[in-house]
Amino acid sequence: MFTERIYNFSAGPSMLPEAVLAKAQSEMLNFGGSGTSVMEMSHRSGVYAEIFDETKALLKSLMEVPDSHEILFLQGGASLQFAMVPLNLIGKTGKADYAVTGNFSALAMKEAKHYGEIREAASSADENHTYIPAQDQLNLSGDAAYFHYCDNNTIYGTEWNYVPDTGAAPLVSDMSSNILSKPMDVSKYGLIYAGAQKNMAPAGLTVVILDKSLLGSEFPNTPTMLRYQTHVDADSMYNTPPTYNIYMLGLVLKWIKDRGGLTAMARYNEEKAGILYNYLDESALFEACARPAFRSNMNVTFVTGDKDLDAKFAKEAAAAGLSNLKGHRVVGGMRASIYNAMPMAGVAALVEFMKKFEQDNR
Ligand SMILES: *Cc1c(COP(=O)(O)O)cnc(C)c1O
Repeated sequence: MFTERIYNFSAGPSMLPEAVLAKAQSEMLNFGGSGTSVMEMSHRSGVYAEIFDETKALLKSLMEVPDSHEILFLQGGASLQFAMVPLNLIGKTGKADYAVTGNFSALAMKEAKHYGEIREAASSADENHTYIPAQDQLNLSGDAAYFHYCDNNTIYGTEWNYVPDTGAAPLVSDMSSNILSKPMDVSKYGLIYAGAQKNMAPAGLTVVILDKSLLGSEFPNTPTMLRYQTHVDADSMYNTPPTYNIYMLGLVLKWIKDRGGLTAMARYNEEKAGILYNYLDESALFEACARPAFRSNMNVTFVTGDKDLDAKFAKEAAAAGLSNLKGHRVVGGMRASIYNAMPMAGVAALVEFMKKFEQDNR
């Protein structure tokens, strides 16, 4: 039982800014004098249209999305994008390149194999996904309809430290766990997708940002709901969108804007992750998993080298109000997910706890 809010290091669904939750609470029963909750509004109503348009405009301005690109608010999670991407884009040449740098990029590649000839352009599996292949290690085929990679590997705690140059092949990126964590040059991408539950909003919303010039290559039997064209034409209102989640995203975007936008967010995230990595590098007990050049500022993975001690750590930390530090079941160890909403004080509390644990378990 906790009477106060705890620091939740979950990889997703994860913490939302407390100010955002409080604002949502204050508007829960009667949004802006409408007499209804946002949850109860028709998605076609004027009052909801304002929420929707404002959210989309804010995302466009914060991420500097160029007019060539469309923002879609979909459902089905990042996982449905593993299929929607090839269904809509691979038709151009029938082939696509995939870089495998972790669990989700492997799943994306596996799904795409149902729809065309998929080539593994690079893999970091040889070293348990502790690094990101360099540009000159990417095996690019000249005729790929697109190149797919996962920009931040949530489970392994690595992040691409460069934007791959893939020539004529459009870049498609799964940014589920680092979207909005820093400025990104959207104009370099054919398509970006992200499940909202890591760094944007509650689970149930998937954001897709795509270059409209890529439309028109979907397979003829692609279901209506799985065609990007359907959602572009209907401005994400072909059917009922996840209305409340879009409203929540709007609140999160306003919170980011008030804090100085993505450049300020990046600086804060860099500093926050730095505190934790610095301690990990000094510690005689804990060790960071990812190689320094590829460390994620969002998901920090580490181990003690002793499985029983790892389990003891996660358990004692949870009892102290530092929850969800157990690593993903496929890799073990520990993982601290420190997205935008994790305050500096949360990371400081974690480091203090780790120092004490280190002293007590020498
Ligand atoms: C969480 C996650 C997914 C899976 O997202 P769902 O929305 O649950 O389908 C995919 N890719 C990355 C990088 C993730 O972090």
